[in-house]
Amino acid sequence: MTTAYQTSTSRDGAPRLPRRPLDTITAPLAEISGRSSSLIACPPGRFELAGQTHDLPRYLFLGPAGGADPIRIGIFAGVHGDERASSFALLRFVQLLEENPPIARGYCLFLYPVCNPTGYEDNTRHNRNGKDLNREFWRNSRQPEIRLLESELAAHALNGIISLHTDDTSHGVYGYAHGAVITRHLLVPALAAAGEFLPVNKDGVIDGFRARDGIIRDSFEGVLRAPPATKPRPFEVILETPHQAPQYLQEAALAVALRAILDEYRQFIAYAQNL
Ligand SMILES: [Zn+2]
Repeated sequence: MTTAYQTSTSRDGAPRLPRRPLDTITAPLAEISGRSSSLIACPPGRFELAGQTHDLPRYLFLGPAGGADPIRIGIFAGVHGDERASSFALLRFVQLLEENPPIARGYCLFLYPVCNPTGYEDNTRHNRNGKDLNREFWRNSRQPEIRLLESELAAHALNGIISLHTDDTSHGVYGYAHGAVITRHLLVPALAAAGEFLPVNKDGVIDGFRARDGIIRDSFEGVLRAPPATKPRPFEVILETPHQAPQYLQEAALAVALRAILDEYRQFIAYAQNL
């Protein structure tokens, strides 16, 4: 797809990085939802920042019925605006689901491909207020994107939360396992699947945290997660790809990792229901 990038100049006259319109992501998703019976483009979350109105795009993917109540999973990308591979990975995953809907059998997927729209446009980690949004959750943040996403997290009572990121300090794929005990058992097959495309980071310390086989159990404060009082805890996975790797490999790795998580969790739920 060709894209008209805008260049802009800051107030002091210094050139800025090229801007990247949000529709580089929303246009292909609109095209898919226009012909899909499974992908629904919801009205975007609208918020004000620095005197301008912005849209936070939201989608639903309804998989084929699985017998029980749909399992509700939220997938969040682009919390850091300069990690565009995460947003495009979610687009690629939607394309995969569209070609093969049974991947989402039994699921209702709440999809947020660009959680930091101004950072995405500016190609910056932070939002246009200069905040790292992934340190602001459940800390009485006044950032409008956080308020919006917190209300989504509270409203949808998700069974699982998956965040997609890229890391410019990592040579391989890895993940954080938080929330429910099942989470690390979901990460194992996810990393194995991603490992078909990119190496897994097996270092003993990753991102300053102790890690084992590419899995970290610790966490920064304020990352995107379920409301603190939620019981039982949903599973909470953060997947990270090496930022320097070719983008198509990062997208492929994340898409197959997502598929592996859905497969594994569906089996877990089926097993639990038969106990
Ligand atoms: Zn990130």
